[in-house]
Amino acid sequence: MSDLQRPGADWELQFVIAGCAERRLPIEIVGSGSKRAVGRPVDGTVTITTASLRGISLYEPNELVMSARAGTPLSQVEAELAARGQMLPFEPIDLAPATGGPQGAQTIGAVFATNMSGARRIQYGAARDHLLGVKGVNGRAELFQAGGRVMKNVTGYDISRGLAGSWGTLAVMTEVTFKVIPWPETAATIIYLGLPDNLAIELLSRAMTLPVEVSGAVHLHASVAARLNHPGLKSMNKSVTALRLENFASAVVGRKQRLKEALKVYGKALELDHRETLDFWGELRRLSVMPNRQTLLWRILTKPTTAPKLVAAIKRYMPAEAYYDWAGGLIWLEVPAAADAGTAEIRRVTAIHGGHAMLIRAEPSVRAAVEVFQPLSPPVERLTRGLKAAFDPEGILNPGRMYANL
Ligand SMILES: Cc1cc2nc3c(=O)[nH]c(=O)nc-3n(C[C@H](O)[C@H](O)[C@H](O)COP(=O)(O)OP(=O)(O)OC[C@H]3O[C@@H](n4cnc5c(N)ncnc54)[C@H](O)[C@@H]3O)c2cc1C
Repeated sequence: MSDLQRPGADWELQFVIAGCAERRLPIEIVGSGSKRAVGRPVDGTVTITTASLRGISLYEPNELVMSARAGTPLSQVEAELAARGQMLPFEPIDLAPATGGPQGAQTIGAVFATNMSGARRIQYGAARDHLLGVKGVNGRAELFQAGGRVMKNVTGYDISRGLAGSWGTLAVMTEVTFKVIPWPETAATIIYLGLPDNLAIELLSRAMTLPVEVSGAVHLHASVAARLNHPGLKSMNKSVTALRLENFASAVVGRKQRLKEALKVYGKALELDHRETLDFWGELRRLSVMPNRQTLLWRILTKPTTAPKLVAAIKRYMPAEAYYDWAGGLIWLEVPAAADAGTAEIRRVTAIHGGHAMLIRAEPSVRAAVEVFQPLSPPVERLTRGLKAAFDPEGILNPGRMYANL
């Protein structure tokens, strides 16, 4: 049982980290703990939770900018934004329903620490692209502040971008400042049924080239679509290929027509109205179509046009069910449980076809034994080690969380 610390102020956090650095005690960093079952398990002597570092410290709706303490629940951030008709541009997903963590509990700090970006990434970019500034404490117990409230042309090293996606291995963030956007007036979804993977990805890629601002482009295998809540789609027993449009009502109507006309060779399109669109993309955001059960879940990034080949190649080794996001650039892949999580085969396939694979769901013993994150190339490993040495020379922050020896 590790010693649980809940610092409520930056100086308290500095004090705890200074004590650990002096004695070289490994620290596990958690927000709400919703992603504790993802990544490599950390064996910390001390656990630091950001749960007491909470609250929105600045919100300027006219400037489209917000600052929040790292432990503020995402739900609170989103509720405050929604009250002013605004939202986070990158629609962060919630891994909890797929991994057994507490649903809806993730903190805003962890969203940026893991660069959790959802379907809207294809239009607006990832979480890291909206992070304007960070305050935090590094492994030397130094309080630092990087960036600010405006997006500048950064010439030197951009610390905020480096921290986004570092999974708490470089510093504990205490406050984040980020850009927000207005809610669109309306949204609609166009759906094609029963397409095989290669045609579906071709359709999605073609849609992305049209000047209609598609803000979501997914393809679900029939078995995955059967897990949707939408009664119509669920009962079809067919794959679902979906495109989302968001904007002013008049723009959405026109763009829908243009999209359907350009894609008519793929068959007749179904439509989801505004309400159904919110429900459909909300489900995908919670990853509830990849429910927590005795299968493994992989997250694979690749070139959209490569995605069907990559999944077909993996299927030669094991059964696999896929949900493609980002027009095919992101594959959520469910495969049967195996002692090594299918790592050897999946990494062989991504090495041949091009891709970047992370094991999301597996027993802790499996996640401790295999390479969960994509192994680093030698130049990237040198850079990563250099960053780690600069931020956390004693190696006390989340040791082994991403890589066994880092
Ligand atoms: C529309 C679209 C098209 C794309 N097309 C291509 C393409 O043509 N070719 C291609 O190769 N990829 C493509 N991608 C994938 C893209 O390159 C990935 O976004 C990229 O690999 C980084 O992933 P991420 O931004 O999601 O990072 P994250 O989710 O933050 O991280 C992804 C992985 O990066 C590693 N990582 C993150 N932070 C650190 C850190 N601090 N230290 C060490 N490792 C870290 C981890 O292994 C992690 O699993 C595309 C993506 C999109 C959205």
